[in-house]
Amino acid sequence: MPIKNGKQYVDRLNKSNPHIWVQGKRVDGPVSSHPAFRGLISTQVELYDMQGGEGYKPRMTYTSPTTGDPVGLSFLRPESREDLERRRIMMSLWCDRHHGLLGRAPDYMNTAIMAFGAAADLLKENNPQYAENMKKYYEYCRENDITLSHAFILPPTARMSSFMRTLEEPDAPRVIEKTKEGIIVSGAFLLATQGATAEEILIFPPALPSFADENLHAFAFAIPNDLPGLKFICRESLVAGDSAHDYPLSSKFEEMDTLVVLDHVLVPHDRVFIYGDETLLGKFIEESHFHTHATHQVLCRCIAKTELMLGTIESIVQALGLRTYTQVIEKVSEVITVLETLKALLIASEVQAKPDQWGTMLPNPSSLYTANCLYPKVVPRLMDIIQLIGASGLVMIPNDQDFQSEIGADLTRYLKGIEVDAQQKVRLFRLAWELSSSSFAGRQSLYERFFFGDSVKVSSRLYYNYANKDACADKVRRLLT
Ligand SMILES: Cc1cc2nc3c(=O)[nH]c(=O)nc-3n(C[C@H](O)[C@H](O)[C@H](O)COP(=O)(O)OP(=O)(O)OC[C@H]3O[C@@H](n4cnc5c(N)ncnc54)[C@H](O)[C@@H]3O)c2cc1C
Repeated sequence: MPIKNGKQYVDRLNKSNPHIWVQGKRVDGPVSSHPAFRGLISTQVELYDMQGGEGYKPRMTYTSPTTGDPVGLSFLRPESREDLERRRIMMSLWCDRHHGLLGRAPDYMNTAIMAFGAAADLLKENNPQYAENMKKYYEYCRENDITLSHAFILPPTARMSSFMRTLEEPDAPRVIEKTKEGIIVSGAFLLATQGATAEEILIFPPALPSFADENLHAFAFAIPNDLPGLKFICRESLVAGDSAHDYPLSSKFEEMDTLVVLDHVLVPHDRVFIYGDETLLGKFIEESHFHTHATHQVLCRCIAKTELMLGTIESIVQALGLRTYTQVIEKVSEVITVLETLKALLIASEVQAKPDQWGTMLPNPSSLYTANCLYPKVVPRLMDIIQLIGASGLVMIPNDQDFQSEIGADLTRYLKGIEVDAQQKVRLFRLAWELSSSSFAGRQSLYERFFFGDSVKVSSRLYYNYANKDACADKVRRLLT
């Protein structure tokens, strides 16, 4: 089957009926109509409709090498700089549609699974069958346009340091039994964003030591969301209301995060990618260049998000007539500086791209990892700037019902801006509130700070991959001799 459209996405989600819990209740109707998910799902429907839509399809799809059908361009294995550019254009179109607010829009995992598929031969070290499984899984995702989430991290008590301290059997996910049909796995993963709104999940824990001869904690696999024993437990929803007029962001872009619990889940052998080899877990992530390919998508997203922030700030400046205040302009220029830096890093990553050991064109990791280090640090500042310029306007934001009531005339008179009427001004500030100060904004900030690991991990990735530091040290050595 080629690319799917929005309706097919919804039909498949609703048909699969996974085990999802929200606020202590099991979701028993269609996922697509649940208040915690329907806004997000309608946005993803738009994304899937877009890729096959008039005017977009040539820029968002390519011809499948196996079937000749159109498939999503974010699955493309790039072989040239032109391919990277095509992929970037496709991902930017989707990112523009969700304004960079969906960290786990489908193209994120599409690039990741492409990187894993391209590097699959590395898995032969563990078992030649696993390499074939990974190649086939990449092809399966591409040909069926699978919406994939992932869970990599473990609950705190399952991590090595805690169980090394107690020397007890860890609370970490592990293989309980190996059968003719597959491996049976139990345990939990701390977080899968969009776990409940995807079709499948990729499970890839960090390397843990084992007390048994065979490392039962070392595995990687992908499974459909509705396998028996698999549960998604949602955090509290941050949808402030269904009205896009009153809640322009949380009504459409609230990506649910889930705790993923596996209770004797039977993973078929053909879905296992690694088993028993903890060294290969880290090595595969590193050598498949997962972080580099994923960051090519991440940077498109950060640019779209920064454009939304700049657009919001500039609209406030215009609405309040602040253009002549130099301290305001200085802050807006700070946002422009971030945006232009991100754009330059993205293009630099493509211009300096080189083929990797798998024959895949790899965008320059240094440019991309620099963006990974920079963005988590500047995002809170960008949110601050919205607060500093928006000031009290951010709280004086009556909703549509207030405007329709008998006090509407007062609001219309006293809440207008310099260049805009009261309703336009309030709509703008409701957007600014959701973007900078709401619980939705808090989660966005947390996401940017941690989605790729904490700042130490992200900085180490840049440092250890940055070859140019040795050349710089050589220059100093020459200077000093
Ligand atoms: C909104 C959101 C969405 C996410 N989505 C996903 C997802 O879809 N899939 C997925 O797999 N993961 C996801 N993550 C998880 C993300 O990868 C982790 O948050 C990140 O790796 C940090 O791990 P942690 O949250 O467990 O923090 P911890 O590792 O518990 O760290 C807590 C604090 O302790 C510090 N710390 C930890 N270890 C050390 C140490 N050894 N020395 C010094 N300081 C230390 C950290 O710097 C941090 O300040 C998401 C996270 C967030 C916030």
